[in-house]
Amino acid sequence: MKRKLAAVAVLSATALLTGVIQVSTSAAQASPATPSPQAQAAEQHAAVLAVASGQAGPLAKALGLGDQEQLVAKDAVVDRDGTRHLRFERTYAGLPVIGGDLVVHQKADGAVKSVNKAVSARIALPSVTPEVPADQAAAQATGAVKATVGVTLDADQSPLTGVHRTGTAELVVWAADGNPRLAYRTTVEGERADGTPSSQVLVTDAATGQVLSTHEKVQTAAGTGNGVFVGQVPLTTAESGGRYQLKDDSRGGQSTADMRNGTSGSGSLFANTSNRFGDGTTANRESAAVDAQFGAATTWDFYKNTFGRNGIRNDGVGALSRVHYGSNYVNAFWSDDCFCMSYGDGSGNAAPLTELDVAGHEMTHGVTAATANLNYEGESGGLNEATSDIMGTMVEWYSNLPSNPPNYQIGELINLNGNGTPLRYMDQPSKDGQSADYWDANVGSLDVHFSSGVANHFFYLLAEGSGAKTINGFSYDSPTYDNSSLAGIGRDKAAQIWYKALTTYFTSTTDYAGARAGTLSAAADLYGSGSTEYNAVAATWTAVNVN
Ligand SMILES: [Zn+2]
Repeated sequence: MKRKLAAVAVLSATALLTGVIQVSTSAAQASPATPSPQAQAAEQHAAVLAVASGQAGPLAKALGLGDQEQLVAKDAVVDRDGTRHLRFERTYAGLPVIGGDLVVHQKADGAVKSVNKAVSARIALPSVTPEVPADQAAAQATGAVKATVGVTLDADQSPLTGVHRTGTAELVVWAADGNPRLAYRTTVEGERADGTPSSQVLVTDAATGQVLSTHEKVQTAAGTGNGVFVGQVPLTTAESGGRYQLKDDSRGGQSTADMRNGTSGSGSLFANTSNRFGDGTTANRESAAVDAQFGAATTWDFYKNTFGRNGIRNDGVGALSRVHYGSNYVNAFWSDDCFCMSYGDGSGNAAPLTELDVAGHEMTHGVTAATANLNYEGESGGLNEATSDIMGTMVEWYSNLPSNPPNYQIGELINLNGNGTPLRYMDQPSKDGQSADYWDANVGSLDVHFSSGVANHFFYLLAEGSGAKTINGFSYDSPTYDNSSLAGIGRDKAAQIWYKALTTYFTSTTDYAGARAGTLSAAADLYGSGSTEYNAVAATWTAVNVN
């Protein structure tokens, strides 16, 4: 709704994306009544994995592996041109081979193009009977962890609990250093002195007990945050040199930095030694950062678990969030140029704009830029804005935070109007005094944050239906242009339809008539032409005067 936001968003929404290949899971062949794009993607993956499994035997022969060796399919990726990349683990006499993994690259017709092996050494062991017994190996591994890694084991702290955190030693073939030999792999679980969980995996020589390799499986730490709007939340952080960073390697490495009220550069990554961030007040610079980092994590999880989308560009890369951006800056924006989110501190630098639906809204601009790339002007601009409001709202429903009960209002906690009212209303957009409830010939000449009203209203009606009702403690009374009475198909189905339309049917110039056609195509793909959902999409567009 703010001019500044519009100005910045124009830049970002129209920024040229180069080299981004869209591999949307919802592009999968859909048949009527297919459950979800996610299920389809899982089905596709299972099918190609089955192909890899079927080829394990012949490929092992073709690669000249020994009689004792077998390939086990682990993963498979198929390019758009049909090229297959089949990933295998290896066993030797039934034992896992560490460093035995390889990837076979095949043309679409199955012809092998090339092979990547982790190690090229041949495996030929005189025996697979270990000299060191397994229980002795496990004790050695535990001792090594205590001596070298400084892990405090639970059993040591509280032997009476009976919790034995040392795993059993598993016999393996160690080939990773190119000198294959019999070894044990032992997992030793515990906690570091500061409470951070630890899971050390050790490989020890089965003849000598020598430690061949050790690595920490817990590469992310479990931090906690206390945000301005999100309240107390868990955070996945990264440990480096005894400090914990607001950086989430389990979600594409997305991180949050302090701009210290500047407007250029990447700021400084939030880090401390306690792994606890913020105290809920704006006086603490970390509190807004907690909101931002949690908002990014929730938006990531929402897209992944709802649509199978792996990050904003669907490439597994997480974005940077910049907080304390500018001075008295009353706005937030997404930029494709820095692939980053920025949040102002608001009026008096005391009212950060780090609310969850704002985070979801802004990062959805990145998703739109990477997909339909709806032009940020005219009716397509309204659809761009509405897409962000719709998905921002869905992120709020997804997280279901007690401190921020989900609803169909936008920016209801940041109080930008100064009187406690939300920025926008989806059930009846005109309640903000400027947004359009229904399409008319002039709607494209409105600011994109007001022409979005038609699509926001469509989404609310499609999800919840018309008329007065109370949902999750919020009251709504959604009208229709044609005085029709609509039942709603639920927000989850409505979101699936919108996302599929955005990622497969909408283009840069889609207008409201095009949005009707695109969402009908999406509904037909997902639920069948003439299905309840399909008919609801048609009736709901009519109810906002899009015919
Ligand atoms: Zn926006």
